Amino acid sequence: MRLAETCFASLETFKPPSHVGLTMSADPQTPLTAQSILGLDVLFSNPVFAGGIGLAGLGAAAAFARRGVISGAALLKRQMLVNIEVSKRDPAYNWVLAWLAQPRDNSGFLARRITRLRNLSVTTSTKSIEKAAGGGGEGGRTHADFRVQPGFGRHIIRHRPGVYIAVNREKASTTSTATGEPHETLTLTLLWQHRNVIAEVFTEAHALAQRFHEGKTIVYAARRMEWAPLGKPRLKRPLGSVILDEGVKERIVDDVKEFLAAQQWYTDRGVPYRRGYLLYGPPGTGKTSFIQALAGELDYSVAMINLSEIGITDDLLAQLLTQLPEKSILLLEDVDAALVNRRQRDADGYSGGTVTFSGLLNALDGLAAGEDRIAFLTTNHIDRLDPALIRPGRVDMMVRIGEATPYQAAQMWDRYYGDIDLDGAGREKFLKRLQELGLFGDSQDPDVPKRHTSTAAIQGLFQFNKGDMEGAIKMAEGLIPRTFEP
Ligand code: ADP
Repeated sequence: MRLAETCFASLETFKPPSHVGLTMSADPQTPLTAQSILGLDVLFSNPVFAGGIGLAGLGAAAAFARRGVISGAALLKRQMLVNIEVSKRDPAYNWVLAWLAQPRDNSGFLARRITRLRNLSVTTSTKSIEKAAGGGGEGGRTHADFRVQPGFGRHIIRHRPGVYIAVNREKASTTSTATGEPHETLTLTLLWQHRNVIAEVFTEAHALAQRFHEGKTIVYAARRMEWAPLGKPRLKRPLGSVILDEGVKERIVDDVKEFLAAQQWYTDRGVPYRRGYLLYGPPGTGKTSFIQALAGELDYSVAMINLSEIGITDDLLAQLLTQLPEKSILLLEDVDAALVNRRQRDADGYSGGTVTFSGLLNALDGLAAGEDRIAFLTTNHIDRLDPALIRPGRVDMMVRIGEATPYQAAQMWDRYYGDIDLDGAGREKFLKRLQELGLFGDSQDPDVPKRHTSTAAIQGLFQFNKGDMEGAIKMAEGLIPRTFEP
């Protein structure tokens, strides 16, 4: 009640109620202001409090200034720097890494582009080299290639005088569901005024990658849920080194080239721009070798899946076919496996991780339009295939690649012995011998069964008898296919 009365008293006569408990103005006569009503005078006249306020003020000012500096720096960074982030999933990732590791001049390792080395990572690849004497690399020496790349962390590189690039290679804590490997990114930071260098860096890196792959064919295989190069790029196989029966190679090559030249025709008619080829015939007749040589001829890579492999499921196949590497020929080997799987499923309810026939058809039908899609299917068992597969759009051309013919045997002979068998007498002798052995399937002698041999077997014979025509003729009997009694 007393407090209420006090509150309603005029300001001039206001006296602090003793029970409020605050020490008010030292001079009771001092006219009261709002500040003094709230007791702030007392607060401010308290040295501890005033000091605290002062410090708090200073702290706030410092925090404010710090925030200002940070946002100023961020603004400056935004205005003055350019960041380019490249994900590992982008093909440029490896090009740029390889470019970063390039020597800038000839004065050795330390003069490499990476001028401030923090971390380096090394990728080692080995290959066996033939023993100096006797040949055969097995158990012999190996040759190792070391490729140094910037490791994880930050690096500063001097691109050229006055132009520096900050490189940050980071491994994320998240992993790719496709490969099970951690995501990685490479961030290049440059001054805004050097932004033109970005195009230069990527063009140089791309040109470098192309030089590295020049004359080589990259073969991709499925790794988990993604395509990954299968070993190092292989030297292009010349088309001339694959000997198919007369005119067969030319017929396929011409058809593929015609297809590649006809994109507009497909676009105008709204037809998916893809073409399928089925090569069938016994093993060892050069189907795979021909496709690799064709890829080399066209400057394409090969993306290869073996359908008999366990773990290749319908979903995986569909996914892989939607993300084929650019400029690649799709090679589906052993397509009959999909049918075998279907029969096996029907027969014994088998449902392992394999491709079904309908999965194969769906994947083929879904082959992305836009970029050209060339698919080669191979099988050793044409009799097992379903007519549904051999339909235009899925398979447009079917070619049997069969057992060795006299034409192929002669061509292969010339490739191996052409320089020493100048009059061709050796070749005639060899062909006659194969004829006698009934190896061209046309024996007229009732005592000699009609049989065949493969081009792979002839190649093996010639390899064994390098430079030795007589040796090859003598050992021709070894071309007779062996039958194994159980
Ligand atoms: P396929 O795919 O028909 O089973 P490959 O292409 O894998 O046969 O051939 C197996 C091996 O035999 C390879 O080393 C290849 O060089 C050789 N070869 C087979 N057929 C031929 C051929 N027609 N011309 C040249 N080499 C061949």
